Amino acid sequence: MIHSYHILGTGYQPAHWREHARQSCRASSAARARTHVKRRELGLAALAGAATACLGGWGGRGKAAGAPSRPLGIGPDVFPALNQYVRGRPLIYLDSAATTQRPSAVLDAIDDFYRRDNANPGPAFHELARRANARYESARSTLAGFLNASSAEEIVWVRGTTEGINLVASSWASARLRPGDEILLTVAEHTSNLLPWRLAADATGAKVRCVDVDEEGRISLQDLEGKLCSRTRLVSFSHVSNVAGYINPAAEICARAHRAGARVFVDAAQSAPHLALDVQAMGCDFLAFSSHKMLGPMGIGVLWARREILEEMRPYQAGSNMAHEADLSTETLEHAARKFGAGTPNVSGPVGLAAAVDYAAALGHEKIERHEAALVAHALERLRSVPRLRLLGPQAPEGRIPVFSFTLEGLAPQNVARRLDAQGIAIRAGDLAALPLLKRFGLTAAARASCYLYTRFDEIDQFAEALGHIARSS
Ligand code: PLP
Repeated sequence: MIHSYHILGTGYQPAHWREHARQSCRASSAARARTHVKRRELGLAALAGAATACLGGWGGRGKAAGAPSRPLGIGPDVFPALNQYVRGRPLIYLDSAATTQRPSAVLDAIDDFYRRDNANPGPAFHELARRANARYESARSTLAGFLNASSAEEIVWVRGTTEGINLVASSWASARLRPGDEILLTVAEHTSNLLPWRLAADATGAKVRCVDVDEEGRISLQDLEGKLCSRTRLVSFSHVSNVAGYINPAAEICARAHRAGARVFVDAAQSAPHLALDVQAMGCDFLAFSSHKMLGPMGIGVLWARREILEEMRPYQAGSNMAHEADLSTETLEHAARKFGAGTPNVSGPVGLAAAVDYAAALGHEKIERHEAALVAHALERLRSVPRLRLLGPQAPEGRIPVFSFTLEGLAPQNVARRLDAQGIAIRAGDLAALPLLKRFGLTAAARASCYLYTRFDEIDQFAEALGHIARSS
């Protein structure tokens, strides 16, 4: 039977988990309160819209009668794509680390932009252009608040984490690295936080080195310390591994890298959806994340960098909007983030992403963290009872997001994913774009189930039962 599970009634107190996340980001409570108030003001209207929307149907048809409620008070109709049958069964979507589903508030914001305000944005041309501009700039401010950036001028719109990393690798690293310089990564990086740096190293004669992780996928601070040296120009690491789910101590790593004189890039693709981020408290120089992994639309994301660093960087691409008074041989470049916005921007993307940020803020970040911590504890317990299952990453619930990579002894991970898909359960399998980490674990492929704020406890139960059945019947 499908039922909603009330997390607050579980008695689970994830204080240690929150403490870990806190250390990782060390957010100032005053800044957080300020941001939350702002986000809440913006979020309530979006939530009200979401509550009345009914775009999909339980079973993909008509009204969503009978669809179960979700945690955190999320109504049954708020995530239309979750309300459907797949292979004759209610969809259980456990692939949120790859991309999340979108609430109606986000779908409505994008729809509303195109229906009412669509124009090539500009502050002085005509009413629609002004409105489009206002929505675009308001989204920039929302995202600056989300990160506690010191200015909206530090928000560079990119297509996603991958483009953010490539921008810095091309514009910052390639212009600065010299033969013998070193870029320090870790063996736990996603391919998108590996290949751009290798290209930059190849182009400049610099070297890429990798810090090791422990048996559970945590960055080894001892190995980091041993590899940081006067040649290290940049350290780039994922705040949260997309395989192990572990939350690395970002502020600590930034401090150590800075002591060695290096700049730091934080790949926040897997942390921005789950944790309250504060770039000032974290002390990084660059940070990037993707909208589609945190309820927003695809094709948009944020690269944040400190303003003085952005001012020093050369443009990544050139064209209209990133310069003015462009003549045959001269031009005046825009400042900070705007220098990287060549051409007509994607406006609906930032509008949708800002709606996603507002939506999560209105749900409440502490409540989301509590729910996800309880999901972690519940899932770990259920997965422990599945025979022949090897869980990758930390075995204890502390300092972890609800991402579970695993293998079933004797079964190809892709086969496990296919058999779950046949029951309407969506997970992912393969090298998870993190082959070096899988090899570190002695593997070349793994399966991964990943949850988000909308995941119900009974969905975890059904997933674990299906997995147990596959393990016992193979
Ligand atoms: N970094 C990490 C840790 C990821 O998990 C991902 C995507 O899964 C990326 C980078 C790349 O993100 P995108 O494909 O949205 O650019």
